[in-house]
Amino acid sequence: MYNDIFNKIDLSHSIVITSHQSPDGDSVGSSVALYEICRQIKEKKESDILIFFPDKLPSHLLPMLTNVSFIVGDENVDFANKKILNATLLFSLDYNSPKRVGESFTEALSQTSAFKIMIDHHLQPEKYADILISDTDASSTCQLLYEVLEKANKLKLLNTNVAKALYLGIVTDTGSFRYNNVKPKTHAIVSELLKKEIQHDKIHEEIIDSNTADKLKLQAYLIHHHLKIFPEMSLAFISVNKKEKNEMNVLKGDTEGLVNTALSIKGIKIAAFFSEEEDFVKISFRSKGKQHPVNVLANTYFNGGGHANASGGKYKGSLEECLNYFLSVIPQFV
Ligand code: 5GP
Ligand code: MN
Repeated sequence: MYNDIFNKIDLSHSIVITSHQSPDGDSVGSSVALYEICRQIKEKKESDILIFFPDKLPSHLLPMLTNVSFIVGDENVDFANKKILNATLLFSLDYNSPKRVGESFTEALSQTSAFKIMIDHHLQPEKYADILISDTDASSTCQLLYEVLEKANKLKLLNTNVAKALYLGIVTDTGSFRYNNVKPKTHAIVSELLKKEIQHDKIHEEIIDSNTADKLKLQAYLIHHHLKIFPEMSLAFISVNKKEKNEMNVLKGDTEGLVNTALSIKGIKIAAFFSEEEDFVKISFRSKGKQHPVNVLANTYFNGGGHANASGGKYKGSLEECLNYFLSVIPQFV
């Protein structure tokens, strides 16, 4: 099975690598790593390799994409759908269901005649791809992709660019090696990546810790005005409404990390961040320990999912309605 993946890459002339909505370090890292792998395999062949992101990336991840060919689906839906439909090989990275790519593209994903390979670490992957590589114990899709290289005996493809991208995804999805998804194997893999001279300190400096002053001021404002703490439920959350987002010109990625800020409060075990969009609210959940699987919370009440300690979902309606609903269901969950 592992070797089939590399044979397919070798034989396909139009490869599209897709990832989930709201791309994060792991989806960007795994996409770029796989792109660089494909590029090495197809070095001398006429071929088309493209990364597809459903929507805009947070600006701090853009430096990772300087030398790769990618499209943002939202910016030209018809063109993106054409690329998906005409692909001969399609990868689904870091998501477990075509729904995670967003309404505008799910139909093309199901209709494309491309051979499909899903590589993912989320629970309950849908039966959608021709090859499914799923490991819910892997810290990240990047870790899993490394293991795919290893099992297929293709570690010679691990060059500096691939290693750098894989490192980004592992660091992001493990919260810089602090979450309980970190296993001895995670560090063993990172040790191999460091041997490729990836300058991990630069990755932290330029991509992971690259705050702007405006972002910090916005986060300080939201913590000051909208942090709510419920000690009896070990719960804390922060929210931002549409009006504030418009007035303060909030960009994608500006509020990233706020949910972890709420979780970092002593005694807090469950944290949430609510961001009001045009007609729905996007929610991020985080938790500590095994007692509060927030993927169940996201799945039961907010049409979402994810991991036990990091999940997300959506609520159709205003922020006020969403928070009322959340506060009505959370005592049952706790
Ligand atoms: P984030 O809070 O960083 O947006 O998402 C954390 C994790 O929750 C993601 O890695 C993903 O697994 C999951 N997640 C976020 N939003 C959704 C969603 O709308 N649906 C599902 N199924 N999972 C989500
Ligand atoms: Mn991931």
